Amino acid sequence: MEKDSRRDFLKKMGLAGFAMPMVSQFQNIKPSNKNAKKLGIALVGLGNYATNRVGVGLEQSNFWEVKGIVTGTPSKIPDWKKKWGIEDKNVFNYENFDKISKSKDIDVVYICLPNSMHREFTERAAKAGKHVICEKPMATSVEDARAMIKACEENNVKLAIGYRLHFEPFNLEIMKFGREKTFGDITFINSDFGFKIGDPTQWRLNKKLAGGGPLMDVGIYSIQATRYTTGEEPVSVSAQFGPVTDPSRFSEVEESVHYQLDFPSGVTMSGFTSYKTNVQRFNVACNDGWFELSPAFGYGPLKGKTSKGEMDLPIVQHQHAQMEGMGPLFMSDKPIPSHCSGEEGLKDMKILMAILESAENGGKKVML
Ligand code: NDP
Repeated sequence: MEKDSRRDFLKKMGLAGFAMPMVSQFQNIKPSNKNAKKLGIALVGLGNYATNRVGVGLEQSNFWEVKGIVTGTPSKIPDWKKKWGIEDKNVFNYENFDKISKSKDIDVVYICLPNSMHREFTERAAKAGKHVICEKPMATSVEDARAMIKACEENNVKLAIGYRLHFEPFNLEIMKFGREKTFGDITFINSDFGFKIGDPTQWRLNKKLAGGGPLMDVGIYSIQATRYTTGEEPVSVSAQFGPVTDPSRFSEVEESVHYQLDFPSGVTMSGFTSYKTNVQRFNVACNDGWFELSPAFGYGPLKGKTSKGEMDLPIVQHQHAQMEGMGPLFMSDKPIPSHCSGEEGLKDMKILMAILESAENGGKKVML
């Protein structure tokens, strides 16, 4: 894309004014043409994230139109039909989902189901010939993540993971700081992300549906940020479960985990994640200064500081930025770029599983 049209595109997305990361996710973007056909998307699982975040992010999109829904709760259907003008033939439940193959209106499905359901619905969507965006964590095991990639490859459909922060200005800026060594070599990273979980009956506390506790749910953000800031993959991990202070809530998944990642360059990362503590920060110590985001990963507004001063960047609705960034990736003939691909999700899955393995074995170092 020419420099000016890229600037116009970013402006339209509300992302103008921040420097492009070295690993540019906008490489293949074509600016939308007002008359061009938008991509039809079906949301799968109409819970909190699909309704209050992705659904809102898709409003006034240049690239997407909500054409279908997949839900197990019939009472949710009328509101969605009214808001988006969805036709009856594009309303599915979990049993008849495979009939989505017949819908010409739907190009992509966005899976916002509990974690352990991601594999099944990615495989079924791929077999139905639909491209997939799947929420994080990609799956609840490395095996499932691999199977999802394979199913999409075999059926010649694209697979992206809903890594919204790859389209968010503050996180893009720290990627750039790390890759360009703006503050010198990174020496140490500390990142903590946790929140006080509510309803004790929710699926996030059910091992079968969630695959794990706060590590899978929000610890993944600290791991992602460490990887995209350093541009490195960890070589080993060690981890320790925190104390269980609420045995009735945390009978199946961990309440908190401390973990340490070692990187080939010698960078070490210390992380903490919890369902009992509201905390959200990403701090990077470098040879010639430092940078930090706090809050770092939530829906915002995010804030950032460096050893040279405050970060002054646009505040965006994350899911809108993500979907406007992903639209052209699904319209293009090229594969999904690695930073938000299934392979990227798989890399995180390997680290998450190694952390849980280490914690289960009393903190024994696990090589990756
Ligand atoms: P919710 O519990 O709010 O919604 C999940 C929806 O899945 C339900 O409303 C329901 O939709 C459907 N569902 C189908 N089977 C089940 C089941 N057995 N138990 C519970 N729900 C079921 O969860 P979230 O929307 O918060 O999370 C969904 C996914 O999105 C998760 O993978 C999560 O990690 C991810 N997420 C990502 C975020 C991000 O920032 N990227 C933030 C929050 C979540 P229906 O009634 O329509 O059938």
